[in-house]
Amino acid sequence: MTTERMNVESFNLDHRTVAAPYVRVADRKQLSQGDVITKYDVRFTQPNVAHLEMDVIHSLEHLFAESSRNHSDSVIDFSPMGCQTGYYLILEGEPDVTATAALIEATLTDVLKATEVPAANEIQCGWGANHSLAGAQDAARAFLAQREAWEQVTA
Ligand SMILES: [Zn+2]
Repeated sequence: MTTERMNVESFNLDHRTVAAPYVRVADRKQLSQGDVITKYDVRFTQPNVAHLEMDVIHSLEHLFAESSRNHSDSVIDFSPMGCQTGYYLILEGEPDVTATAALIEATLTDVLKATEVPAANEIQCGWGANHSLAGAQDAARAFLAQREAWEQVTA
């Protein structure tokens, strides 16, 4: 493993030191016109110990991406990590972790009430058959149950 600083923020994070679930600022970037965007690391499972199954992480992506925009105009993107342990939530501006956690909590509370996964079909999604509403709701429920621990990133 290289000890040089790498371009990608999370490649410089020692994943052995974190304690999921957590919500942490991964990056803040000032764009060329002066606007600032903030990227949150929303970690659901302990890295290299557990992960979300593909259909689960996929459905939760759809549910969160659609519902979060009912709570905030600042959502730019919500995308799963390739390691399937969490998501990146990119927001306009510099919302602090408290405000971001409130957005996540409100959105996941919606997820628990959902009766279907939005856009889970071959027209609106690239793998419309690969979904699990029940799995996404189980993951949301487990994450919400750890609400008090979200802001504690390391053990
Ligand atoms: Zn999809």
